[in-house]
Amino acid sequence: MIQDFTLHTHTIGFDGKSLIAEMAKRASELGFKTIGFSNHFILHPDILTAPCYKYSKRGSYDNIYCDNFDTIMSRFTKHFDELEQIAADSNTKIRILRGLEVDFFYYPGWQTYLKQAIKILQPDYLIGACHFVEHNGTLCNVHDIANADPANRDIMINKYWKKIQDASQSGIFSWMAHLDLPKKVSVGQEDKWIDAEEKAVQTLKKNKMPIEINTGLYRPYCYQPYPSPRIMKMAANANLPVLFSDDAHHTVQIMRHFDEAKQMAQQCGIKNYLTLQKILDFSKKTM
Ligand SMILES: [Zn+2]
Ligand SMILES: [Zn+2]
Repeated sequence: MIQDFTLHTHTIGFDGKSLIAEMAKRASELGFKTIGFSNHFILHPDILTAPCYKYSKRGSYDNIYCDNFDTIMSRFTKHFDELEQIAADSNTKIRILRGLEVDFFYYPGWQTYLKQAIKILQPDYLIGACHFVEHNGTLCNVHDIANADPANRDIMINKYWKKIQDASQSGIFSWMAHLDLPKKVSVGQEDKWIDAEEKAVQTLKKNKMPIEINTGLYRPYCYQPYPSPRIMKMAANANLPVLFSDDAHHTVQIMRHFDEAKQMAQQCGIKNYLTLQKILDFSKKTM
């Protein structure tokens, strides 16, 4: 088995499509010894007026977005209680961990809120994510980046890579998620982004920040994981520690494309693979 744990998953109640118990059962059947749940912790006072919000309402996953601390805490206290109950259930044959996929934001107070949340929830690990860039007073996701005119698009992609650097420097996270996320909407892949990618990798290295190889993309238009082979080679040179993430939003997505991703990682020269213990030890230090 490539990795006997999977830590980047989403469930019903957030934007996942399967129940915690169903995900745990499936992961156990596949041979995993540990499954971690990492639903979205997205807290921003302006998030409900962001362009993405109306789409999330249509898709019924708007509850991943929160504009105030009390709401997000009541959602996660309930969710973490449920995780604990399922972990304690004798029918559960797999170790269950409690994580968060946290969006990094710049507004004053955000870090204080996150620290408070960590104190109350005591998660096992935190995945750092940048699903948004702040541009012209608006919170823009990758779809907004794709829809922007070329000049604004480039500014936004630059802001994206800057944010990846700032998030790695913050020292809060256990690892960084899907490094080249704009690839999801087919942007940011030109050679002109190599410098920004290299700078991000160097910042990750300086801060000893691991990355994930996220197998959630693999679409006909882009049949590869995050990050691209180009970035994987940089990561290999920098000896960044890596783990594999399926970013499963449904039981059928658990362990998706792990074989292909491992092959690609090896071809790119990656040798520094994380163990679960290393991740948990590192998370304890950063939180
Ligand atoms: Zn994500
Ligand atoms: Zn995710």
